[in-house]
Amino acid sequence: MGWKTLDDMDLQGKTVLTRVDINVPMEDGAVTDDTRIRRLIPTMTDLMAGGARPVLLAHFGRPKGKVVPEMSLQPLVPALEAAFGAPVVFVADCRGPAAEAAVAALQPGQILLLENTRFHPGEEANDAELAAGMARLGDLYCNDAFSAAHRAHASTEALARLLPACAGRLMEAELKALEAALANPKRPVTAVVGGAKVSSKLDLLGNLVAKVDTLVIGGGMANTFLAAQGIDVGKSLCEHDMTDTARAIMERAAAAGCTILLPTDIVVAREFKAGAASETLAADACPPDAMILDAGPATVDAIARAFASTRTLIWNGPLGAFEIAPFDIATNEAARKAAEFTAAGQLISVAGGGDTVAALNQAGAADSFSYISTAGGAFLEWMEGKDLPGVAALSQ
Ligand code: ADP
Ligand code: MG
Repeated sequence: MGWKTLDDMDLQGKTVLTRVDINVPMEDGAVTDDTRIRRLIPTMTDLMAGGARPVLLAHFGRPKGKVVPEMSLQPLVPALEAAFGAPVVFVADCRGPAAEAAVAALQPGQILLLENTRFHPGEEANDAELAAGMARLGDLYCNDAFSAAHRAHASTEALARLLPACAGRLMEAELKALEAALANPKRPVTAVVGGAKVSSKLDLLGNLVAKVDTLVIGGGMANTFLAAQGIDVGKSLCEHDMTDTARAIMERAAAAGCTILLPTDIVVAREFKAGAASETLAADACPPDAMILDAGPATVDAIARAFASTRTLIWNGPLGAFEIAPFDIATNEAARKAAEFTAAGQLISVAGGGDTVAALNQAGAADSFSYISTAGGAFLEWMEGKDLPGVAALSQ
């Protein structure tokens, strides 16, 4: 663990620089999805209840170190006020005299929002001087932006080393869920890795085979593993130049005592479109003019049996082309099984990844999972076993 939470900090009368992720979708100057903002409510509530004055630091878009008016955080003020139930004061810089004056004038019960940190080139350069300029504004630092923790930026890394630092509630929940999944999991641990390509998830597969008891490989990347065993996958999505890599991963798994589950039956079609005529065949029977678009029922049964004896489940990547029916069936059924076992208290389930979250929502399974990470890149880097600079800086 090694990092502090808000419970470890004396907040009374303190100005708390709070790094948040409010990089929300906007249209015509209004927030269209405030999920990321609402997830900050526990931290904002606890800061204010503890007598602290929150000062928010955040990025928005990719202004590349220049002031880009369209990427100002000012239009977010009404959405923040609505979510947090408190007045939000905005100041057009994240350091310097105007920001210092705004902090000095901030009243208890108010929240200060500083302008987009990425308007300064020092943000992405993790510049010590920019971090020092921000540190002058507060007494404490609270990082609640797990989704930005895989980047060593001034507001996520250097600043954390200049002030007493802790994790916010969202960061805390995310780290606890991820530590429960991979650092100290209840065994047996099963990981499901699916999605389009082996090449985009090499580090993930490499880390997981050394740590989990069973690895379910599905989706397009399973085709590459089938091809690596000499199976003809027809016109399927397949990285033929990655078959050596796939074989190496299977050898590492065998050496580590990790069982790999590949599809034993497949659903194939001639067209990649909704409602395309499909048939279910053995995994080694894909016709030369067909594509594998989903796993078949025997594979789903085998996955369900593996889940039945699993205590911890990690999931990234759908088992098939879940966006187009009927190739969403394996993903939906396996997801519902995982949800059912989680609801019964048999296992802890942690999932992440853009398409994975969409697929679990579509299956109606997301609400029953123990934890769904919306952190994208940071979630994957954690699962790849990498140190996240924003977390490491809290753990000093
Ligand atoms: P995530 O965003 O959760 O990390 P990925 O982006 O790796 O997941 O993978 C999701 C994509 O993989 C989806 O667009 C899905 O259609 C695609 N996919 C899964 N199985 C297949 C398959 N058999 N053939 C082609 N595409 C597939
Ligand atoms: Mg994706």
